[in-house]
Amino acid sequence: MARDYYGILGVDQNASDAEIKKAYRRLARKYHPDVNPSEEAAEKFREASLAQEVLTDPEKRRIVDAGGDPEDPGFGRGGAGGGFGGGGFGDIFDAFFGGGGAGAGGPRVSRVRPGNDALLRLDVTLEECFTGVQREVTVDTAVLCDVCEGTGSKSKAAPVTCPTCQGQGQVMEVQQSILGRVQVARTCQRCQGTGEIISDPCEECAGDGRVRSRRDVTVNIPAGIRDGMRIRMSGAGEVGPGGGPSGDLYVEVSVEEHPYFVRDNDDLHVTVRVPMVEAALGTSVDVGLLDGTDATVSLDPGTQPESVVRVRGAGMPHLRREGHGNLVAHVDVSVPTDLNSRQRELLEELRGAGDDAARVQTSGDEENHSGGLFSRLKQKFGR
Ligand SMILES: [Zn+2]
Ligand SMILES: [Zn+2]
Repeated sequence: MARDYYGILGVDQNASDAEIKKAYRRLARKYHPDVNPSEEAAEKFREASLAQEVLTDPEKRRIVDAGGDPEDPGFGRGGAGGGFGGGGFGDIFDAFFGGGGAGAGGPRVSRVRPGNDALLRLDVTLEECFTGVQREVTVDTAVLCDVCEGTGSKSKAAPVTCPTCQGQGQVMEVQQSILGRVQVARTCQRCQGTGEIISDPCEECAGDGRVRSRRDVTVNIPAGIRDGMRIRMSGAGEVGPGGGPSGDLYVEVSVEEHPYFVRDNDDLHVTVRVPMVEAALGTSVDVGLLDGTDATVSLDPGTQPESVVRVRGAGMPHLRREGHGNLVAHVDVSVPTDLNSRQRELLEELRGAGDDAARVQTSGDEENHSGGLFSRLKQKFGR
């Protein structure tokens, strides 16, 4: 059966090359093995890569549009391909060309195989990212069966050759097809293609050598870790079939939003709200840091709203190296709204004393004042 390459990428039949590549990149970001180590993701990634390759090749795309599948070994010279088993043509052609394998049958698979990797998500606070933390997590996973010690056998005996397939891992079957009677190789059901069976299967694990269980794992979250990063714990994943070596456990860290700090790389941004008078006269403000200490933010006399003051080294610790980012304080100046009569009197007096009378400015006027918000925005976002 022809694969639905358009469907895999989620594009329609008229999609341009650019649209196809874009759709592929979107899927790759989601399923790339570096991002998502699961078996399922790996398969999705392979599918998407193949679909992109086929649909951006004009020759192959023509075959697809004609209802064919340029990657199906049954269509070409029958053979080579990895074979999407299970279906008509592949098997028949394999049988005809004496196919060197592939498809549903194939060379026997090992009974003892490495286990899958596992992925776990963990919520941590920004405080925990600051100091680093050790967390106990419970993982639902496959562990070695301790009744049979992973052998799968009640008596811990070695596996014996499968009597159904004589150790071949596959059996031949005769099938009726449009081409007449053909012999087709099928995976041996008795031994699941391994060519071996356990003669006295362990009752605890039914011969698999492993059982599902909850396991407590200690995760060391290093200081400076960021949202979305993964910690790899080698060998802490699932035990493999037949008691095979364990996969790895990946712990993906999700950092909770902080009530007043916003993180940008290793810098911590915070808003510091000061009364108008303090901003005019200059002051210093203590900001409580994530480790419980304070950082002092000094505001010069005449500090303007939205000024930015940096405190070097008061940000997040760098991950696995010395030093810290900065604390970046954004100044917010509060103007009093309900003045008592004494305050009003003083401000009136201040107005009288000032030579800098209030004037209305448009953004354009402000261009000449380097400290203005408008020009700062321009500096930030270009002209
Ligand atoms: Zn067992
Ligand atoms: Zn067998």
